[in-house]
Amino acid sequence: MKNLSLALQARRDNSLYRSRQTLDGPQGVSVRLDGRDYLSFCSNDYLGLANHPAVVAAFHQGLDRFGAGSGAAHLITGHSRAHQELEEALADFVQRPRALLFSTGYMANLGVLAALAGRGDQVFEDRGNHASLLDGARLSGARLLRYRHADAADLAQRLLSASRPDALIATDGVFSMDGDIAPLPALAQTATAHAAWLLVDDAHGLGVIGPQGRGSVAACGLGIEQVPILVGTLGKAFGTFGAFVAGSDDLVETLIQEARPWIYTTAPPPAVAVATLAALRLVAAEDWRRSHLQTLVRCFRAGAARLGLELCDSETPIQPVLAGTPQAALRWSAALREAGILITAIRPPTVPAGTSRLRITLSAGHSEAQVDRLLDGLEQTLAARNDARNV
Ligand code: PMP
Repeated sequence: MKNLSLALQARRDNSLYRSRQTLDGPQGVSVRLDGRDYLSFCSNDYLGLANHPAVVAAFHQGLDRFGAGSGAAHLITGHSRAHQELEEALADFVQRPRALLFSTGYMANLGVLAALAGRGDQVFEDRGNHASLLDGARLSGARLLRYRHADAADLAQRLLSASRPDALIATDGVFSMDGDIAPLPALAQTATAHAAWLLVDDAHGLGVIGPQGRGSVAACGLGIEQVPILVGTLGKAFGTFGAFVAGSDDLVETLIQEARPWIYTTAPPPAVAVATLAALRLVAAEDWRRSHLQTLVRCFRAGAARLGLELCDSETPIQPVLAGTPQAALRWSAALREAGILITAIRPPTVPAGTSRLRITLSAGHSEAQVDRLLDGLEQTLAARNDARNV
């Protein structure tokens, strides 16, 4: 057996040790940590719904009506009217015949990939895909082939030299660590040309971009013909918890029969589904949240450019600032924290070596003044980053 203490120490020595921070209070643009309030720029609560009064009230009503726990898996007695209504509303929202709720996005990706691909099949994935898509391909037993980030031509090349004609292509819609949008029309064209399935995980696009927040696929004018498998998560822009896979009746029925991470687990509490339904109404109706976010993105990028910061090519609320080494990212994050601003450092293996970063995320709950405060904080702490770079 490996020596755990030594392995942990090696992580510490390489500035790759991970640890949690404990929030005292709700998620929001201002969070309380160790008795101090911080202006936070690192949640995925893009629309500011995690602590929205209507969502919280719906949660309470859900508890009163359905109790605390679901008590069983969906196929036993865990599937409630609340889950059913939410599935129907989500399917309607993403304009697909059916949707199936999963407990988390991680499980949705494991479930869908392992149900659709198997030994002898090939799964093609963007190098920048979320870990859950990569792990799903591994769980499926299929051969995993990774193409260059956001590069449909490289994908086409790899499909041409693939040994078998059947293939499943999977991509993030909005890449979680860079904030850029996948070249979906080109990927869809390539998938069609090779009669391959295309799966888009729109965890960071749904609610945030596209008409009524219907995500990156709708924003590109694509539908179920081009993207037959759509994964969405509910713990980000929707502010609650859970995930779903949307597509044809046959797709959802196949998942019900075969997706082990869906079959062999307790259904989420129905109250979460009731709260999510309330959140979904806000997501679809309140365009001002998305336009305000766009304004904040523009303000931030203009200010960051003035400071000479190294940004990613992103028009979404994910606006990472590259720091380089893990040490540089940690030092910078700590200096910002001193100044009352919370942004976690993201290091390998979550991102490639040499690209450790501050993953700044904006929320519709932020004001322009708060974005200015962030820019001031970044300017004042740039020296910490530069010092660390020279270590
Ligand atoms: N897909 C992507 C692209 C993600 O970024 C994440 C979470 N960060 C997930 C899936 C997993 O979703 P969940 O947090 O609901 O497990």
